[in-house]
Amino acid sequence: CGVFGIFLNEYEDDCEAARTTFYGLYALQHRGQESAGIAVSNGHEIQLHKGMGLITEVIKPDHIKKLKGRLSIGHVRYSTTGMSNVVNTQPLVFHYLNGMLALAHNGNLVNTVELRKRLATYGSVFQTTSDTEVVANLLARYSQDNKIEDALARCIMDAKGAFALLIMTEDRLVGVRDPMGIRPLCIGELNGNYILASESAALDTVGATLIRDVNPGEIVVIDQDGLHSRQVIDSPRRAHCIFEYIYFARPDSTIDQVNVYQARREMGRQLARECNIDADMVISVPDSGTSSALGYAEEAGLPFEEGLMKNRYVGRTFIQPTQKMRELGVKLKLNAIEEVVCGKRIIMVDDSIVRGTTSKKIVQMLREAGATEVHMVVASPPTRFPCYYGIDTSRREELIASTMDETEIEKFIGADSLHYLSMEAMFAAMKSSEDTFCSACFSGKYPMEIET
Ligand code: 5GP
Ligand code: SF4
Ligand code: MG
Repeated sequence: CGVFGIFLNEYEDDCEAARTTFYGLYALQHRGQESAGIAVSNGHEIQLHKGMGLITEVIKPDHIKKLKGRLSIGHVRYSTTGMSNVVNTQPLVFHYLNGMLALAHNGNLVNTVELRKRLATYGSVFQTTSDTEVVANLLARYSQDNKIEDALARCIMDAKGAFALLIMTEDRLVGVRDPMGIRPLCIGELNGNYILASESAALDTVGATLIRDVNPGEIVVIDQDGLHSRQVIDSPRRAHCIFEYIYFARPDSTIDQVNVYQARREMGRQLARECNIDADMVISVPDSGTSSALGYAEEAGLPFEEGLMKNRYVGRTFIQPTQKMRELGVKLKLNAIEEVVCGKRIIMVDDSIVRGTTSKKIVQMLREAGATEVHMVVASPPTRFPCYYGIDTSRREELIASTMDETEIEKFIGADSLHYLSMEAMFAAMKSSEDTFCSACFSGKYPMEIET
């Protein structure tokens, strides 16, 4: 999911906060395409518009005109826990003892069952299956005689998991990042106004500048008087999601001081050092494989060509919830350029293999277009384990690398050879050690216990 929030001290018109949030979410659309929503506060009341679909399908100019107020938060969602339906859309807006509150969450709690049980004994009822509602209930409970940031501080002591949370009260914007910094969240500034966003690319889009990342375990409160910070938990380790760099985030974002494009390009270079394939050209599976393919081509001294063309009007196929839709999606999305690949030995670089659907189809496509050899090169290690921290690879039996070894996968996708990036090379590309990152989907070493 993607979150964006803004507090305007200086503004020209009443809809500026909502409009800026709209553009911010537009820039974060890759983080979720199932639903979108924007909530604004005018100081005494919170208004909300949300629905299923892309941000441009959900929020029309007429809606923005009605979303008046100087504070705003927004959310784009794809389901990880909770079903893909309208009750699970965000932001969640509710009344509590001290007024109204809006909540937008990226990530996934790993102790929801326990929390839900505990809350139920106090009489809480739940309308949705999403963990965001659990957070809302916790907040409501703890805020009875506390300020919202105190309630939030207690809340994040209870909530285990990965979260980048935005909370908007009638007059405050609050952001918090989980103690290990699994999910990203950064702070930006625009003409003296503060912004919180999942990725820095959203700041660029609205003309803001990146100030810094929210620290793991830090709560930031933005109000009339500016930005206040409170470090609530000091975790002994960090666990930034490495998959953000591999696939999820935009290459033009910088997360925890590492630019995503440069990280991917370096992974490609490392990969070329690890493989030694005799071929005529390097191509990428656009767009997610392109940065690493460029790094590969550069390091291997081979030409980079555009052998596959992408239909720009088709979204991320993976994000479609069913397998049938995913398969149709690949064909809709990618096509080989026969004039480029015919008669050639090809190294094809993609960022990752999840189910193998994409690679299998593309290898077939390239062969039909006349490629004589297709070598599949993957700029990450085999994805063997599910993610419990908010990235949708949740069903383990679907991960091809959890049931097949590399030779079997090579056969399944029909490639002449298959190479994955090693764990060591991946960390080398990040210029950092293993314990800075979460890489559980590759290693199975989860930085935090998961409730069964
Ligand atoms: P596969 O067809 O193997 O299931 O998916 C591989 C393709 O999906 C790759 O091109 C990769 O860019 C993309 N992909 C990998 N992981 C994810 C993910 O968690 N979410 C989405 N939406 N796409 C992914
Ligand atoms: Fe990211 Fe993988 Fe860890 Fe999930 S398991 S947070 S996708 S590195
Ligand atoms: Mg891809």
